[in-house]
Amino acid sequence: MTALAPTSADVWALLEQVTDPEIPVVSLRELGILRAVNATDDGFEVVITPTYSGCPAMGQIEDDVQAVLAEAGVSARVLTQLAPAWTTDWMCDEAKEKLRAYGIAPPQRQSCGAQVNVIQFMQKPVTEPDIPCPQCGSTQTVVSAEFGSTACKALYKCLSCQEPFDYFKPY
Ligand SMILES: [Zn+2]
Repeated sequence: MTALAPTSADVWALLEQVTDPEIPVVSLRELGILRAVNATDDGFEVVITPTYSGCPAMGQIEDDVQAVLAEAGVSARVLTQLAPAWTTDWMCDEAKEKLRAYGIAPPQRQSCGAQVNVIQFMQKPVTEPDIPCPQCGSTQTVVSAEFGSTACKALYKCLSCQEPFDYFKPY
């Protein structure tokens, strides 16, 4: 660190290296977990929102954030904010692309920041859209378990290449 007091931008830059403990290819910012960095009288306040309440990775994320900032000599505390609840819509296209490259089918929804009108049709049965296989791109896929490696994901199987894969469920 320089002798100058760090700014919020410095803290954002430092936290860019903190990745999701379960998906090491995407940063917390790209996932939309990192919500805000606020300067306070005695350092910084970092606001994070878990991908779902009770996500077991949350303690790890808090520790990782604290460790990176402590190493840089930045005094900060981590605030976990549950409302508004995290949604896969906060995930950037960049993160979705990285997930796909990592072998996890990204959530089938609009990219972060996009505003869409959600129209609910009473008669329409609740079904998941076709989830393209991250390996071969085939949409001939079936869900094989509602919960994958973590509760955030469902386990799918590709009927074209026979590969199982995780699908990051939208919510
Ligand atoms: Zn496939």
